Amino acid sequence: MLFYNLNKPSEKVDFKTATIQGLGSEKGLFFPERIPLFPSSWINNLENYSDEEIAWSVMNQYAGETIPEKILRQITAETIAFNIPLVSVSKNIYTLELFHGPTLAFKDVGARFMSRCLGYFMKDNDRSVTVLVATSGDTGGAVANGFLGVEGVNVVILYPSGKISPVQELQLTTPGKNITALEVEGSFDDCQALVKQAFSDKELTEKIFLTSANSINVARWLPQQIYYFLAWKQWKDKLNPPVISVPSGNFGNICAGLLAFHSGLPVKHFIAACNVNAVVPEYLKTGLFKPVKAKSSLSNAMDVGDPSNFVRVLALFNSEFEPLKQTMSSESISDEETGAAIRTLYREFGYLADPHGAVGWLALDRWLKIHPNQEGIFLETAHPVKFPDTVEKFSGKPVRIPDSVQALFSKKKTSVKIKADYIVFLEKLLENKR
Ligand SMILES: *Cc1c(COP(=O)(O)O)cnc(C)c1O
Repeated sequence: MLFYNLNKPSEKVDFKTATIQGLGSEKGLFFPERIPLFPSSWINNLENYSDEEIAWSVMNQYAGETIPEKILRQITAETIAFNIPLVSVSKNIYTLELFHGPTLAFKDVGARFMSRCLGYFMKDNDRSVTVLVATSGDTGGAVANGFLGVEGVNVVILYPSGKISPVQELQLTTPGKNITALEVEGSFDDCQALVKQAFSDKELTEKIFLTSANSINVARWLPQQIYYFLAWKQWKDKLNPPVISVPSGNFGNICAGLLAFHSGLPVKHFIAACNVNAVVPEYLKTGLFKPVKAKSSLSNAMDVGDPSNFVRVLALFNSEFEPLKQTMSSESISDEETGAAIRTLYREFGYLADPHGAVGWLALDRWLKIHPNQEGIFLETAHPVKFPDTVEKFSGKPVRIPDSVQALFSKKKTSVKIKADYIVFLEKLLENKR
């Protein structure tokens, strides 16, 4: 399987190169050259396969030519080495809980897969690679955890000082070893700007081998398909496939689901559940894609004003508007509605959701009110403990702290505080290389 550059289709690379490079030339995202089609006999018998077998079968289509079977099987098994249960919430609504991984958000899946692949690819390389990543919260912890102790890989995480939750900060500032946390006196946009400038700095990239670990990297994006297959495995009513609502920001997660759908996975409809950052809901209404500056909301991991994976969604539909609209709708949910959704979910159904999951639930609930014969799943993308103040404020219920989080509070935060200034950042990067 080759991957082509969406900005320059003649540029084709294998999975290994796409993973190591992250982006193609002209900042183009890589996209699979063909969409694999899984036999319906396999898809309709997923109950007969182990989760590990399913995960390997899916990823083997994309990575099988560059990673030996035994190693890819080990990597995919480790990628999903935690529960991904489908939990009943109400009569026609289920949730797929994606927060049982080590850093309590779905990003663990992509980060675990990518870190292990990169570790394998770098094994025989005499140069080490530096993974640079800017985070608005959950990516940093997942990447730190996934890459901790991986030989040949240094990780530098930039996060905006004072703008991420305490649990999120501890997850990325306590691992140590090959993980360096830079606490930037500025916003997430400042962090991202520093990272972008580093990638385009030729002098720097000659000295340090840089790559990125956000969802534009195929090795983070593609494994997210796995849990859509695991949801179908657990789905009882096989004659009535689910509507799936995905809390969306950068659109990597829902785009992975759409890819699974194009590979034959039965899904009745997708809903991209957004917060006030409504670029995609507006696009589906008007046909105009107008990126804006991100606004802050209660579901901060979805505060994205220019979703970078949306070009992949368009590529999946050959940029045809009508087929896309048939398959995917999108809703924008305000903070007020998010709070009310957290309250209703807890008071009426006894389910404690985080703000992102609550956005997903409300968008689904609205759809099912208009389509009463359908049933749906919303993806619960983070554990409520990552947003304890918001969750307790609206549900009235304090969030029970899992043991893994409790242990974090006794660890020491180690970060390097820097001004949002490229020269300062550059010095730290070069120091880190040693
Ligand atoms: C990153 C994140 C999202 C958004 O996912 P995308 O793939 O960027 O659309 C939603 N919820 C949580 C909790 C996240 O961390």
